[in-house]
Amino acid sequence: MLTTEVENYPGFPEGVQGPELMDMMIKQAERFKAEFIYDDATAVDFKRKPFQVSVGDKAYEGRSIIIATGASAKWLGLESEKRLLGRGVSSCATCDGHFFKDKDVLVVGGGDSAMEESLFLSRLVNSVRVVHRRDQLRASKIMQERAFKNPKIDFIWDSVLVDVVGDEKVKGAVIRNVKTGEEREVKCDGIFVAIGHKPNTDFLKDQLEIDKKGYIKIEDHTKTSVEGIFVAGDVHDYRYRQAVTAAGFGCMAAMDAEKWLEEQA
Ligand code: NAP
Repeated sequence: MLTTEVENYPGFPEGVQGPELMDMMIKQAERFKAEFIYDDATAVDFKRKPFQVSVGDKAYEGRSIIIATGASAKWLGLESEKRLLGRGVSSCATCDGHFFKDKDVLVVGGGDSAMEESLFLSRLVNSVRVVHRRDQLRASKIMQERAFKNPKIDFIWDSVLVDVVGDEKVKGAVIRNVKTGEEREVKCDGIFVAIGHKPNTDFLKDQLEIDKKGYIKIEDHTKTSVEGIFVAGDVHDYRYRQAVTAAGFGCMAAMDAEKWLEEQA
C-alpha cells in the first residue's frame, strides 16, 4: 500500500509504482465482479457457521474466508517518537516526504524499506542520513548500491536512535554508538522509521493459531488451524514478503478455498 517503486514484480520491465499496481489489481478483480468494502475488520467469529467478520457494528458472513491483512510498520517504542508522530516522525516517505523539501532527515533501519525510503526522500530533501544498528546493511545488493551511489545519502553505522528531540516538532535525535556507548545529538527536521513490519492479526485473537511474533500459523500451504479459513501474504509469510509472493499466495488461497467449498457442497 505504501511502497513507491516496485522493481521486482514480473511483467513490468521498467518497474511500477505500488499504488498504480494496486489500482490495476482492483480493476482486474472488479472485472470478475469482486466487490470491495473499504473498512477495517474489527473482530471475527470463526466458531459459528457461516463465519462472521465484524466491521464496527456491521457484520459480514462467509462460508469460507481468506485472510490477507498484511503487516504494518514497526516503531522504535520511544515516548518521544510517539509524541512527535506526524510532527516530523513518520514511517512513510511517500505519504510525508513532501513536508521535508530541502530539509535534513534521518532514516532508521538497514533493510530494503530503509533504502527505498532514503532513495525516495533524496529526491526531495537536502540530506538523508541512515542510522543503522550494525556496520552492514540487510538490504538487497541493488538497493545498497543505489543508496551508496547517491550523493545525498550518508550512513551512521553501529548506531541506534535513543531519543527524538523537539517539543512541538522534530529538531533532532540522540544517537548512541552501540560499540562505544557514546551518545550525541544530531540535528534534523524529520525522522523516518523503517525497521520492518508487524503482522495485522490483533483482531483475530483467540480465533485461530498465531505464532509468538503474531504471524498466522499455516498447515498444508494456505490452510489455517480453522477449517475453511485460508491465508495469503505477509500476514503469515515472514520469509519472502514480496508483492509477487503475496499475489502467488492469494492465487493459492483462492484455489484452496474454492476446492474446500466444493467438497462441502
Ligand atoms: P527487514 O528486511 O526486516 O529490515 C529491517 C531493518 O531494520 C534491519 O536492517 C534491522 O536491523 C532494522 N531493525 C529492526 N528492528 C530494529 C530496531 N528495533 N532498532 C533499530 N533497527 C532495527 O524489513 P524491511 O526493510 O521492511 O523489508 C521487509 C521485506 O520486504 C524484505 O524481504 C525486503 O526485501 C522487502 N522489500 C522489498 C523492497 C523492494 O524490492 N523495492 C522494498 C521494501 C521491502 P538488522 O539488519 O540488524 O536486523
